[in-house]
Amino acid sequence: MNKTEIENKVYNDIVSRKHEAEHNADIRYYKALQNEEFANIDKEIRSAIIEKAKTEFDGKSSTEIDDKIKTLKNKRAKILKSMNMTLEDIRPQYSCKLCNDTGFVGNSRCSCFQNAVTKALFANSNLSSKMNRTFKDFNCDIYDDKSFAEKLLKLGENILKDGGKYRVPIIILQGDVGVGKTFFLECLSNELLNNNVAVIFMPAFELSQKLLEWHLGTFEEKNLMQQMFIDCDVLVIDDLGTEPIYQNVSVEYLQNIIDLRIMKNKLTIISTNLKTDAFANRYGDRLNSRIYMSDSALKLEINNRDLRKASNKNK
Ligand SMILES: [Zn+2]
Repeated sequence: MNKTEIENKVYNDIVSRKHEAEHNADIRYYKALQNEEFANIDKEIRSAIIEKAKTEFDGKSSTEIDDKIKTLKNKRAKILKSMNMTLEDIRPQYSCKLCNDTGFVGNSRCSCFQNAVTKALFANSNLSSKMNRTFKDFNCDIYDDKSFAEKLLKLGENILKDGGKYRVPIIILQGDVGVGKTFFLECLSNELLNNNVAVIFMPAFELSQKLLEWHLGTFEEKNLMQQMFIDCDVLVIDDLGTEPIYQNVSVEYLQNIIDLRIMKNKLTIISTNLKTDAFANRYGDRLNSRIYMSDSALKLEINNRDLRKASNKNK
């Protein structure tokens, strides 16, 4: 799903909650109306409120009518109590008191809507909750080539600024194991998700399993896979080259994903420890030409010591 689809789903959930709260209140209200005493006093209150509006419109004092309404409301509360009910019971119990489950306060999105979108984006992202580091944790000083690390961070910030878009639809991070590729992708993914970009974070091993499920799945499962890989705003594939390859599946489906995402101008970021030749050997010329050799891709090579040995901070 992309950001808009996730937002729509969250919004529909909020509106359903609103309808449910109102429906439940209606049921309890109609139940209370079965009590004649309650029904009469409720009717009297509504007439008195109309009377108050008229009085105010005429520019007269409403003190008297206010007192009348207050007395009637007290009576109604007593009747409700005798029925083991409170006023709250016959009013909709919205889960958000700020927006009454409309999702908006004035023209702005309510915090309940925004928080639910962020939560849904993270839940949808496939990013492990343990991988929660952001650019604040990205320390350029521990990279051998500090200026490269700074440029990498700048690239991440630019992608973030453009809401998950970049000049080219593919970015390849090539480098040996432990140089900080996954760490950078973790930071970037969290930053994007926190800023409402629908990211899918897919370790290559899991990708391989998912592609097989896609191939063997039912029509519905195929649709879900399509939504996951094609529709998301940013697809991150981590550590491509380490996963098992299923013949007639892995390369073909990956090719399909890459082609469609290029066509839709959606960003895909791939980290790999494979260099061009090894990549071509493993995935074939067609995918190699799409990913490594094309002008749709920015290829970055990270040369670094193994950060896992050099520091515990960045992995
Ligand atoms: Zn709200």
